[in-house]
Parts: sequence; structure tokens; C-alpha cells
Amino acid sequence: MMPAMEQRYETVIGLEVHLQFSTQTKIFCGCANVFGQQANSQTCPVCLGLPGALPVLNQKALEYAIKVALALDCRINTLVKFDRKNYYYPDLPKGYQISQYDKPIAQDGHLLVADENGTTKRIGIKRAHLEEDAGKLIHDDQTNSSFVDYNRTGTPLMEIVSEPDLRSAKEAYDYLQALKLTLQYLHVSDCDMEKGSLRCDANVSLRIKGTSSFGTKVEIKNMNSFKAVRAALEFEERRQQEILVSGARVVQETRLWNDAKALTLPMRSKEEAHDYRYFPEPDLVPFVLEESMIASIRCSVPELPRAKYERLRQTYGLSEYDTNIIAADQDIADFFEACAKLYGDTKKIANWLSGPLLQEMNARKVGLKDMRVTPQDFIVLLQKMAENVLSNLAAKETLKYMLDTGKGAVLVIEERGLAQLSDSAALIKIVEDVICQNESVVQSIRAGKESAVGFLVGQAMRQSQGKANPKMIGAIIRNKLLGSSITEAY
Ligand code: ADP
Ligand code: ZN
Ligand code: MG
Repeated sequence: MMPAMEQRYETVIGLEVHLQFSTQTKIFCGCANVFGQQANSQTCPVCLGLPGALPVLNQKALEYAIKVALALDCRINTLVKFDRKNYYYPDLPKGYQISQYDKPIAQDGHLLVADENGTTKRIGIKRAHLEEDAGKLIHDDQTNSSFVDYNRTGTPLMEIVSEPDLRSAKEAYDYLQALKLTLQYLHVSDCDMEKGSLRCDANVSLRIKGTSSFGTKVEIKNMNSFKAVRAALEFEERRQQEILVSGARVVQETRLWNDAKALTLPMRSKEEAHDYRYFPEPDLVPFVLEESMIASIRCSVPELPRAKYERLRQTYGLSEYDTNIIAADQDIADFFEACAKLYGDTKKIANWLSGPLLQEMNARKVGLKDMRVTPQDFIVLLQKMAENVLSNLAAKETLKYMLDTGKGAVLVIEERGLAQLSDSAALIKIVEDVICQNESVVQSIRAGKESAVGFLVGQAMRQSQGKANPKMIGAIIRNKLLGSSITEAY
């Protein structure tokens, strides 16, 4: 067991996030940019690095990069320049990666990150640059062979580098969540870590609290979920503390996270680190971005998650919990606001959206766009509850059928007979039956055991096959056995 962190140490973390853009084609050639195709079927001389093939910048990739830059409040370098990062690796057929070195497209931005108490912290974005992804090596233990798939080679990639502003593994986790949500709002990537569309390397060091200089950092790679990033950072800060407590020095190195063993292991030290010998990419001539292009991309940046969260909370007086769920998905937020235009009980809308509707979405494993319900239908459902036509349970049932069939609430209630019985004569008849059948319970209620009313309500509900309005049933029972007025109860 690793010891707990000591108060005198402070953890310093900076994250490097790689984001694959979901453009139709690759960044420097016309090959399709799709995941999961047959190995090496999405390649051409450019992305295979064959001699004489020339790269051409994908306009969409550039636009996406600018969109991300604007969303992260970065300064945009209007001189677009690419550089060669030289290293040899089997998944890099050219022997170099086209990247951006001294003129990243974006610099000096920030992201506001909220913790669960709602306290926000501003995390600096040092730089974000465009580059091409490498291919993929596949190691087959059975045949003891290695294969290379060049389909991924040339996928547009944006590397987003944070300032070392994060102070705990938890804060790093929150930053990743906030960053991912912002990127999802921009629709530039599917942000799917399982497909490798979003990847993260973490840099971490310790220092004595109150000192201004940073300690020696270690870079951790090979985490394939945000949880793994957090676990790796938690492991690493304790490992470094042990070293510092023993009086030794932390070695600057790259370490790999081993998820199965839950620890980091050394990969390469600084001595082995690459000298990439960056130089300007001669096949891509630098050019200056037009202000009008930036301006039109600025118009395409939607309201971002933090702003949406604040606005929804203020405008509709929603709870933090509901707002978080609603703002976590643009479609849900749009749906909510469309409902709020039609119906005043926004709290109810939020409850039913973050509750039953979301449960149905999760059960069906689909997004709201694929759910067969319009804001209008949804509001009718809520109205039917408010009018006591539907009990809570019947409303959930109604919703299910609505989603299964795409039919409106009124039709479903009618077809399925889900309306609750609110006709007093019918309800009184049911109560009278129940009173006759449960003499001993009735006596105990008359003798003052009011809590037993619930039992009779349950019996009446069963007799009505769940359709009776339980509030009315309770009121009728109380009226009959205890003499209270019927109307005061409902
Ligand atoms: P390098 O030149 O080694 O790649 P950078 O300055 O580019 O280092 O930073 C890479 C990442 O490491 C950034 O996210 C940055 O915030 C983070 N970082 C830099 N120094 C430290 C440090 N001492 N401790 C933790 N993270 C750091
Ligand atoms: Zn290609
Ligand atoms: Mg770096």
C-alpha cells in the first residue's frame, strides 16, 4: 500500500490531450477518415509516405482547429505553418510527422472547470496545434508477429496542452470531463476514448507547498480512460512522494500506466528521449488566415457548456443536479428549453427529463435524437399527470409506450387504458368493497391506528388494477372511517 499524501507536498499536473477530428477525409490527403475498416484499406501514396507524394491541407481540419481554439479562448496564430517532427517508427511511414512547432494554431487559452461544489477554477491552455496521427501497430502473441495498419495514418489530430495548473488527480479528472464536454459541443470529434479519438498523456511533479519553482516531472502514457488517468496520477504522486521522503531525486522520464497491475513502469528516461530535429515542412507553404474566415467560424461556436449551465440554472431555477444532467447534452438542453416554452412547471420538466426519460434513453442505449418523443408529446404527458389522469407509475408506463410506438400521450392512454379512475362513484364503490373485505384492519383504524390506511389504499389500488387515483382513494377511506372531509385531501 502506498502511503497517503503528506500535507507539505503539492502535486502539479499538466495534461496533453490528443483529439482526432471527425472530418470526412484525412488531414493531408483524400483518404476516408473512418474507424474500424479493414487494415490498410484507407491509404494512398500521401499517407503511406511514398516518394514524391505531396500533402494538401484539409480545409475542414483547419476550421475545426480554429473552432476548438476559439472555444478555449485561445489566441490564434494567423500565420499557419507546419513543421516536420523527425523520428523513425514503423507506424510512421514517412520517418517524420507533420506537426506544428513554433507556431501552433492556438496559444494562451483557458477552460473553466467546476468541481462538485460548483467552485470554478481557470485552467490555462498553453497551446493547441494541428498534426497528423500515426498508424497503428498490432502485436499478435499467438504468431509472435507484429503488423502495421496505416488506416489511422494522417488522421487529423489536435494536441491540446494545458498549463501545469492542475493540483490533484481529481482536478485533472474534472478538467478532462469539462474539456471533453466542450469538445463534444463543437461537433468536431466523436470524443470516444475507446476508439482512440480522445487520448491523454499526463505530466506530474511534486513540490513543497509554498515554493514557486516546479519539481522534476514524469510523463505518464497509456491510459485509456479518464478513470485510468486519475488512478495513474494518484499512483504517481505517491510514488514520487516516497522518493522525495527518502531523500532521493525524482528522475525525469516517461512511464507507462499498467491498468491491470494499477501501477506505472518506466518506459524511457530523458537520456533516451528523442531529439526531433524539427524543421519547417517544405511541402506546405505557410499562409496567413483571413480574418473573415475566423469571424465566420466564431459564429459557428455554440453556447458552451459552462455558459449553458449558468443560464439554465438562472433562467429556470433548476437544481444543480438537474442542470448538470441537462447541460451535459446539447440535445437534452434544447429539448428542455422547447418544453419550457410550452409548460410553466420547469422543475417537473427537469425531473422527468433527468429521471424517466434519461432512464429510457440509457435502457435503449440511444441519444435523445433517436427517441420517438417531441417536446409537445412530453408536455402532454406531464399535463395528464397534473390533471390526475395519470398516476406517477402510469405516466412512466405511458412514456414507455410512447417511445415504443411513437404515438402521442393521449392516444397511448386511451389504447392502453392507463387513465386513472377519478370518477368518485366508481372509487367509492371500490373503497366500500375493500372496507367489507378487511374488517380487522378497519377496526384498528377506527381505534386510532391511522397508519393502516395505507394498507387499505394498497388493496383498493390492486382492486382497480393500479388505475385508481391513490390520493382520492385515501381521502375516501379517511372520510368513511375517520369522518374527515373528502375535499381537504385533494
Ligand atoms: P516538454 O517540453 O517537456 O514537453 P512542456 O513545457 O511542453 O514540456 O509541457 C508539457 C506538459 O507538461 C504541459 O501540459 C505542462 O503543463 C506540463 N508540465 C510542464 N512542467 C511540469 C511540471 N514540472 N510538473 C507537471 N507538469 C508539467
Ligand atoms: Zn491517404
Ligand atoms: Mg511537449
